[in-house]
Parts: sequence; structure tokens; C-alpha cells
Amino acid sequence: PGAIAVFHDISKIKRLETMRQDFVANVSHELRTPLTSIKGYAETLLNEPAPPENIQKSFLETIEKNANHMCKIVDDLLNLSRLESGKEQGHFIPLDPMIALSNAWQACCALAEKRNVKLVAAINKNQFKVQADPDQLMQLFRNLLENAIKYGPENKPVVVNHLVEGDRLKFTVQDEGIGIPAIDQPRIFERFYSVEKFRRNEFGSTGLGLAISRHIVSNHGGKIEVQSPPEGCPRGAAFIFTLPLAKKSA
Ligand code: ADP
Repeated sequence: PGAIAVFHDISKIKRLETMRQDFVANVSHELRTPLTSIKGYAETLLNEPAPPENIQKSFLETIEKNANHMCKIVDDLLNLSRLESGKEQGHFIPLDPMIALSNAWQACCALAEKRNVKLVAAINKNQFKVQADPDQLMQLFRNLLENAIKYGPENKPVVVNHLVEGDRLKFTVQDEGIGIPAIDQPRIFERFYSVEKFRRNEFGSTGLGLAISRHIVSNHGGKIEVQSPPEGCPRGAAFIFTLPLAKKSA
């Protein structure tokens, strides 16, 4: 039995080492792409003769866009590592989830306007309180709303529903978009996993949003899952998660 335990320990260490190597390779790759672009444009700007002024401006805009993307990757990575370390579980207080939802929608409104996507949700404020961390809850809604806007069709709404289930509140964030093939569904909560790389680049995604979302939900003692297509719908994706209701006296 001792030998078997050692064997298991070694295979666990090997698995962790492979995960670590994959992670470092992924981070390097994700940062290298925008960095290569910044370097290329900066070099062209410094070349003699200098390009015309309007071209210079568009190069600088590309540099800024790529630098912003790198900042987003680093922010998301720091966020994820804080959540994963377990050091920062969160500050859980009774909260109206509809306020977090409205704030998250506000944060996505530029993208929503661009794609002409509306939010459809029964937002009755003061109806329920969940026991949640305010920043994490807002981030969770924001990640799921942003995905529904990005991967959903233009001109179609994102629908958010909620339902009481025992001592929990169950939320569904649903779109009518391209959906997620069954084969990819078990993997989309992994860091840097994406179904279609080209779509990610179009929106400057980091591939970390769902990994962060899963950590947030599990920090709150809940579960998150995807249904694609959603029950009773021909297409799209629904992300379903639960949060604990706050005690009545709170
Ligand atoms: P990203 O920053 O790439 O959007 P996420 O971790 O949020 O990263 O999502 C991981 C991948 O899951 C996405 O790249 C996309 O392929 C897929 N995905 C997430 N949400 C949806 C959705 N609502 N509809 C279709 N695909 C989605």
C-alpha cells in the first residue's frame, strides 16, 4: 500500500508539473501576440522616412489597443490567481443581486450598443438578497453578460432569469448565439480555452472569463454549468449558476 501511495503522489506531482508548464506556455503565447504587434508598429513608426501622419495615428491606435489587451490579460490573471490561492475568499454580505446585475450591464453597455443588444430581465429591486461578495458578484455577471453579447447575434436580447430553489437563487444568462458544441462544453471553464480563436481576437477576449466565473461561483458555495442549446431553444447558450440566499433577518 505504501508503494501505491508513493506512485500516486509521483503521478500527481507529474500532472501538476504538466499543468504548470501548459499554463506558462499559454500565458507566454497570449502575451506574445499583442507584444509582437506593438513591437512591429513601434519599429515602423521609428523607421525613416516616417509614415504620413494619418498612418502614424492609426499605428499608435493599434499599439494602444494591443497594450490595453495585455493589461486586461494581466488583470484577469491576477484576479484568477487571487481567487485560486484561496487567500481572498471574499467579503460576503447580504446584497440585492439586481443592483449587481444593473451595474454589470452598465459596464458592458458600450459593447451592447455596438451590437444593438438589449438586456431582458425581470429586475425587481429589493425582492431578494443573496449572501455575496459585491465585487465578485458584479464581475461574475459582467463576464457572462459580455460573453452573451460577444457570442450572441446582433439585434437579439440577452435574457437573464432567476428562480428560488430552496435556500438558493438560480440565475440563467441566455443568448441566441452560435452556442457551444457538446465536445467543447466540458472544457470552456478551463483557463485560456476557446472554441473559436478568431472570434476571441475580434473582441479582445482573454479566455479567462469563465475560469474566473467558475471560481467566483464556487467561492459562494454554488455551481455553474452551461446548456447549449438551452432547453426548449433551437440555438444559443445558457449559463446557469446558483448563489446562496441571505438569511431573512439580514
Ligand atoms: P473569452 O475571453 O474567450 O470570451 P471565456 O473564458 O469567457 O473567454 O470563454 C471561453 C470560451 O467559451 C470563449 O472563447 C467561447 O469560445 C466560449 N463561450 C463563452 N461564452 C459563450 C457564449 N455565450 N456563446 C458561445 N460561446 C461562448
